[in-house]
Amino acid sequence: MSVEKPYSFFESVEKSFDKAARFTKWDIGVLEQIKACNSVYRMRFPIKRDDGTIEVMEAYRVQHSQHKSPCKGGIRFSEEVNQDEVMALAALMTYKCAIVNVPFGGAKGGIKINPRKYSAYELEKITRRYTSELVKKNFIGPGIDVPAPDYGTGEREMAWIVDTYQSLKPGEIDGAGCVTGKPITQGGVRGRKEATGLGVFFGIREVCNMQEVMDKLGLTPGVEGKTVVVQGLGNVGYHTAKFFREHGAIVIGLAEYEGAIYNPAGLHEEEVFQHRNTTGSILNFPGAANLAINTDALELECDILIPAALENVINGDNAQRVKAKIIGEAANGPCTPEADEIFIQRGILCVPDMYLNAGGVTVSYFEWLKNLSHVRYGRMEKRFSENMNARILAQMEELSGNTVAEKERLLIMHGAEEVDLVHSGLEETMINATREIMHIWLSSPEIPDMRTAAYVSAINKVATSYAELGIFP
Ligand code: GLU
Repeated sequence: MSVEKPYSFFESVEKSFDKAARFTKWDIGVLEQIKACNSVYRMRFPIKRDDGTIEVMEAYRVQHSQHKSPCKGGIRFSEEVNQDEVMALAALMTYKCAIVNVPFGGAKGGIKINPRKYSAYELEKITRRYTSELVKKNFIGPGIDVPAPDYGTGEREMAWIVDTYQSLKPGEIDGAGCVTGKPITQGGVRGRKEATGLGVFFGIREVCNMQEVMDKLGLTPGVEGKTVVVQGLGNVGYHTAKFFREHGAIVIGLAEYEGAIYNPAGLHEEEVFQHRNTTGSILNFPGAANLAINTDALELECDILIPAALENVINGDNAQRVKAKIIGEAANGPCTPEADEIFIQRGILCVPDMYLNAGGVTVSYFEWLKNLSHVRYGRMEKRFSENMNARILAQMEELSGNTVAEKERLLIMHGAEEVDLVHSGLEETMINATREIMHIWLSSPEIPDMRTAAYVSAINKVATSYAELGIFP
């Protein structure tokens, strides 16, 4: 890890923004407005711990941009939380939403705690109090600002948030849309949990299907047979590893904060997850070699490296030792600007976070739409499609005199369920975003990397929406 950090995280986001802004036609004032963090809310509140002591919490919610409403972004529980980090992550949300055409402004929240050191009861108190602080200042609501899970939070915390919000705002008919990433029973949508990992997979798969890009990297097209290393076995890393494995890639390395494991024959994420649950560590997994330091996994020889944990893990110190051909940024901000420069020189393709991990917010958008429409996806059309498919099939069989095999029949007849529609909407979104960014990158030789191309796409979209509002004629 880098001891000296030349830029703060927010500054490094600004630096990447400025690098890209040169390739756009927008006036400096427009660019300054897009870059600025509009609202920063820092709060302090006391919590009584289980042992009776009082602890003062440090928490934030940052709304980076309101060029579209509501604002959107996760809430993280981590000891590293600070204002600069939340601002940087909120800014990334603005750009991320713009790239994938999700009509939200960017936001982010954080509470400076290590959730492992608190009981479930304490975490519930903290989450509920944080929510009521947001309600007091009008920083949450289906039309204002909609949080979601992030590092250290999940469905459970989102359920506490929606429950607190709805008890403070009784009768608000769209109240369930005040937060996304909720359990299905509390207004969540099927497919949200795996969304970020699946989006990472769809994005990298699309890159791997581009002959021109693969030729430059000296790789053959397709995901099958590619070797993959994943750092972080949380929700995002777990699902990314799962989808790569299911599509024929070989996950040769997995890392968690206590260390990493390596097996060139391939690792099964669920087995490793269960092993970690029972032994308390990823290490000593049967058949795999231990790597004592988790960051060593970043330097393993592989085709695709997926940092899926925290920011700044690949920096000026270790980027030179990375041996992967493609880096897929599943986490937010895992590579620093210094690392980016090194990858450009070394011809390593870094697929940037702010679009690659946009699967989470894309499906959050679907969840929010579901909450506003008060109906499950597929409820109206599933049976209709199945009946229609059955009639078409019957006609075809009658006219051709042939019978379709049973397995095919089930596939053809199947009417789309909620999860099918969510996965399909996500696939469409990630494929389109990948193609748009690649088009920007490959059609302007001066644009040095894919991150810059992604920023160009984001800047153009946000600036256009300001122009549409008549703010920047
Ligand atoms: N925390 C996720 C992210 O950083 C999801 C945000 C959301 O769904 O609003 O993209």
